[in-house]
Amino acid sequence: MKTTVQNPDLARFVEAGTLYLGAPEAAELVRRHGVAACIEAIAANIRADFLRWADFDKTARVAAHSDVGVIELMPVADAQRYSFKYVNGHPGNTRLGLSTVMAFGVLADVATGAPLFLSELTLTTALRTAAMSALAAKVLARPDSRVMALIGNGAQSEFQALAFQHLLGITELRVYDVDPAASAKLVGNLQGSGLRVTVCASTAEAVRGADIVTTVTADKRNALILTPEMIQPGMHLNAVGGDCPGKTELHGDILHASKVFVEYEPQSRIEGEIQHQPADFAVTEFWQVLRGERSGRDSADQVTVFDSVGFALEDFSALRFMQQTAEHLGLGERIALVPPLADPKNLFGSLRATAAVAA
Ligand code: NAD
Repeated sequence: MKTTVQNPDLARFVEAGTLYLGAPEAAELVRRHGVAACIEAIAANIRADFLRWADFDKTARVAAHSDVGVIELMPVADAQRYSFKYVNGHPGNTRLGLSTVMAFGVLADVATGAPLFLSELTLTTALRTAAMSALAAKVLARPDSRVMALIGNGAQSEFQALAFQHLLGITELRVYDVDPAASAKLVGNLQGSGLRVTVCASTAEAVRGADIVTTVTADKRNALILTPEMIQPGMHLNAVGGDCPGKTELHGDILHASKVFVEYEPQSRIEGEIQHQPADFAVTEFWQVLRGERSGRDSADQVTVFDSVGFALEDFSALRFMQQTAEHLGLGERIALVPPLADPKNLFGSLRATAAVAA
């Protein structure tokens, strides 16, 4: 005899299958809910999940490197839910008409292993990365920060801009990209946002006078996007683009003159700006600051660095938001990702049923 399923998500899975949210439906969800509202809700989920850090089974992501890029799997779980994200990073992709970063992922039920939700995560990654950046800056940057330099104006950039506008009160952007067309695209996309945007001729020009500097460039090398002479006392650096061994954005001396915050230290030691630093180089995991266990910024003059690489827990938080909002808005479709079986021991029998249908 079958036991009645109590968990509503699992009950819907048993009834109708996995909820699938493809890229067009995810875009529709974000249009209907609003970009800023999505980022704010994901930031709230990330905050809540980081505050219960100890509840999660965590691991550094598993990476498969090639000369031109990386493909990564990012798993994490608490007692109820398990999630993973598949994501790549190929800075040369845009020349082929493909995105640098592409992703999808699953939210599953720990008690049964049932895949409850399968979602695109390319757009969602941009939202959650922006949410994480802004959440960190809200805690670490000077509260009077109003001007942000945004270096790298590709796929992630508008999301970063809007997150900092809505969560921190940034009013002015100074932007730079080696590709002027990318900056022009950003200016067009941010028209009507209320942000004042100035396109600069170099990183040094963009950074001058900024309270916060976001670097979100894509280049598979140890780049020197920011060098020590560009940095002013009191700045907050949101270093997003260095997220892989051999792919960094900051001159090492900047780290030595700053207080550095990371997501999950074992992963950041491999992938972050701190990958070139000795094992005893001091960093603070951001969740400890959120919980009041470690200090954040110590003075108005201190330079703070959020050495962002992207951690699986942020995707877990974002997946839960996307699942709930898709359910609420009636978006996505139920699919038979795993075989629905009248007799779960009779997997072989499903072949016969398919054959009968095909006949
Ligand atoms: P993208 O390819 O769409 O955009 C990157 C932009 O950087 C391009 O417009 C390129 O011209 C510009 N650029 C390259 N070198 C530059 C330089 N020296 N100075 C100024 N601009 C330069 O990529 P994207 O999707 O926007 O991602 C940007 C970076 O962020 C990638 O490196 C990606 O791996 C990383 N990323 C990190 C996280 C995280 O959680 N930390 C999440 C998503 C993406």
